[in-house]
Amino acid sequence: MKVLVINSGSSSLKADVLHTGDGTRVLSVLVERVGQPGAVAHVGGTSRSIDAPDHARALRAVLPALIQAGPLEAVGHRVVHGGESFTAPTLIEGDVLDALGGLVPLAPLHLPGNLAGIQASLEALPELPHVAVFDTAFHASLPRRARTYPLSHELRRGAGLRKYGFHGPSHHHVTRRAATYLQSDVRDLRIVSCHLGNGSSACAVELGRSVETTMGLTPLGGLVMGTRPGDLDPGVILHLLRHGYSPDAIDAQLHRHSGLAGLSGTSGDLRDILERSQQGDDPARLAIQVFTHRLTQAIASMAASMAGLDVLVFTAGIGQNSPIVRQRACAKLGFLGVRLDDDLNRDAKVSHAHDVAEISHRHSRVKVLVIATDESLAIARDAAKIASGHHKVSQPRTIPIAVSARHVHLTQEAVEILFGKGHTLTPRNPLSQPGQFACEETVDLLGPRRTIERVRVLGPTRRACQVEVARTDEFFLGIDAPVRASGDLDGTPGITLRGPRGKLELKQGVICAWRHIHMTPQDAEDFGVKDRDIVEVEVGGGPRRLIFGDVLVRVHNSFALEMHIDTDEANAAELDSGTPGELVRAEAGGSLRRRRVLYDTPVP
Ligand code: AMP
Repeated sequence: MKVLVINSGSSSLKADVLHTGDGTRVLSVLVERVGQPGAVAHVGGTSRSIDAPDHARALRAVLPALIQAGPLEAVGHRVVHGGESFTAPTLIEGDVLDALGGLVPLAPLHLPGNLAGIQASLEALPELPHVAVFDTAFHASLPRRARTYPLSHELRRGAGLRKYGFHGPSHHHVTRRAATYLQSDVRDLRIVSCHLGNGSSACAVELGRSVETTMGLTPLGGLVMGTRPGDLDPGVILHLLRHGYSPDAIDAQLHRHSGLAGLSGTSGDLRDILERSQQGDDPARLAIQVFTHRLTQAIASMAASMAGLDVLVFTAGIGQNSPIVRQRACAKLGFLGVRLDDDLNRDAKVSHAHDVAEISHRHSRVKVLVIATDESLAIARDAAKIASGHHKVSQPRTIPIAVSARHVHLTQEAVEILFGKGHTLTPRNPLSQPGQFACEETVDLLGPRRTIERVRVLGPTRRACQVEVARTDEFFLGIDAPVRASGDLDGTPGITLRGPRGKLELKQGVICAWRHIHMTPQDAEDFGVKDRDIVEVEVGGGPRRLIFGDVLVRVHNSFALEMHIDTDEANAAELDSGTPGELVRAEAGGSLRRRRVLYDTPVP
């Protein structure tokens, strides 16, 4: 398939037309200084000045050449941040563009340019399928321990602060390529991939999946970069704020004046720095020392998170072209089994045509490879897969997951028995389903074997009392309750509830809640499911990734999209609330594995 790949930055627009089969490039285009005076378009081997006050005009100027390189069958767009919702390449249709717009605060420097490029190409090429391919998506598999920042619950959940990771298409591409070069299955290798360019990151790939990476919430963290510092003591930012630096001034320092540029005092381009260091320039030498020291540390730390290392990959501008950086980065990694062959390292040359060079010594336990990255090809192949319909999934693609702790629903009559005549439930905090809330009130569950105290009551009151517990609770209480949909209580066991003002013996009502997804009719249409369907949902990116079968779909206008599982189920997959799940298809292009079930009308 011939695919146009567009990578639009804040002031540039890059485009490649590629054959996804053999990876050949038909045409490469770069427009520089978009939105500024003096824009230049480089098309193939020629350059010319153009008028490009915005991305739409820049694209229009080079469009005839791109179309001529066709026939184009799809457009792949590099999108730097997919947030929590976009964890796979996504067809741009419906409200996807709006949803991407909502992610701008996560990547304010990059996403507006990405979106401007998408908008311009949707207008210019409306008949083609457009696919967003995310830098962050490859890292959706980061286990919880790796993606979690040690911050308060308020910041982690409320403000959504977590590690995302970037350069996904590059890490994905070079680790797959390393495996094919070594004639291994990528799942049998523990690989550290070092993408070292203007932006740099390292990534630990185990079982073919990203399990740790150096960049975080934004592409500022991790390794030293051309103009960005990488990891810093967070106190540095506080110090600057308290000494009169505005957020914008700090932003400029961190994005434009730090890293190699800041250390060397001039350029962030390693070629200049290497030249100056050879002439004895001390800041240039320091820049190289700090860069390679941090790189060595990062490689070792990535290897430690996999408890070992089989393959080390260097890629991107610096990784592919700088023997000195590779040699310095590896010099202290002998303890990990890394040993370079100095001649092979010095002579390594890679290109799209000859994309792998092996530079490890023949006695090195770890294979060290230089691999030419090809982000455009990786994006083109992802776009082709989606465009050809094999993995076409409508939006919203992922489903937030809420973990329900044990809880009790009461009738008004029960409320008055347990809490006193005339008592009404006191809302404590709203729940995600509209109109539902957790109450200040709690009750004790008195089982035949043991008691569980202070179980939260949920409001509003219902037509029947219902006690929802996890399997572990059942063992503890000494009760054998069935897995049931909410409201389906016939034949379920009872239990005694104890409140501050009285006891209530329920004849029935204890259930282990059937895992289920709440969704609106529109969500159901997007996912291609109906009320009472049973589907499979894949959840968790970490080592305990799980496919939950027998997930009940519940559709109602009053619902908000969310899957509910209990604490046992969440623990089995090492999940916490908000982790996205994904409807699983039986086969590429096939229909959801589902069967219809009967149960009583949904109880909102
Ligand atoms: P990228 O972002 O992958 O295009 O990488 C760009 C960076 O690669 C440049 O800023 C240079 O620092 C670096 N680079 C490119 N060629 C060389 C080279 N021959 N030697 C050292 N560094 C290089």
